[in-house]
Amino acid sequence: MLDKVLGLWAPHYCYGCDLVGFVLCSNCKYNIINEPFAGCVACQKTAVGRTGVCTECRVPYSKAWVISDRDGVVLKLVDEYKFNYRRSSYEVLAEMLNDTVALLPEDTLVCTVPTIQKHIRQRGFDHAKLLAKQFASLRRLEFVIPLARNKSTVQLGTSRVERIKNARLAFRARGVQRGRNYLLIDDVYTTGSTMRYATQTLLNAGAGQVWIAIIARQALDK
Ligand SMILES: [Zn+2]
Ligand SMILES: [Zn+2]
Repeated sequence: MLDKVLGLWAPHYCYGCDLVGFVLCSNCKYNIINEPFAGCVACQKTAVGRTGVCTECRVPYSKAWVISDRDGVVLKLVDEYKFNYRRSSYEVLAEMLNDTVALLPEDTLVCTVPTIQKHIRQRGFDHAKLLAKQFASLRRLEFVIPLARNKSTVQLGTSRVERIKNARLAFRARGVQRGRNYLLIDDVYTTGSTMRYATQTLLNAGAGQVWIAIIARQALDK
């Protein structure tokens, strides 16, 4: 709401080409969607056999969709959304996910990695939930909250080793529906440990298959 009001005073400029009136114009959006990330989400090598996951990487999720590497326009979009609290970006991010993720069975449950409470307070909104809910609504799928976050797992600014250790203990299941398939959505994939342990928590609690969808993948060499 506040965003809509502010929008009257400060119009959006497309993150790709500065066109007025759009967060991302259809041309720039097409350019991103047209060249989706095609490798294995975990190792970046060519993914053969499974969608978005190669046969060598041992990961608990069985399919993965990634919109793009975390660079260029996508980097700007995601970082503005996440760190500069540009709430209005969630719609276009959800649209891009909608264009990237394959058609899913209609009983698929959509969920997200739970956001750290402190970050929700800082932003004034839960960016991951907003995005996943919007995607679920575009697909007419049910949005659920089957994961909760355990305390003291702040990720920003901690070392890679610390982050992996934290991620392992980060989540607990709440009301996972036995045998049901889940699509787990997150904005940025960095070490992969968050997705790995969130997925494992769902599976341990009885989920059928877990698939993941990511906005942006941080390249390993960056
Ligand atoms: Zn544009
Ligand atoms: Zn791989």
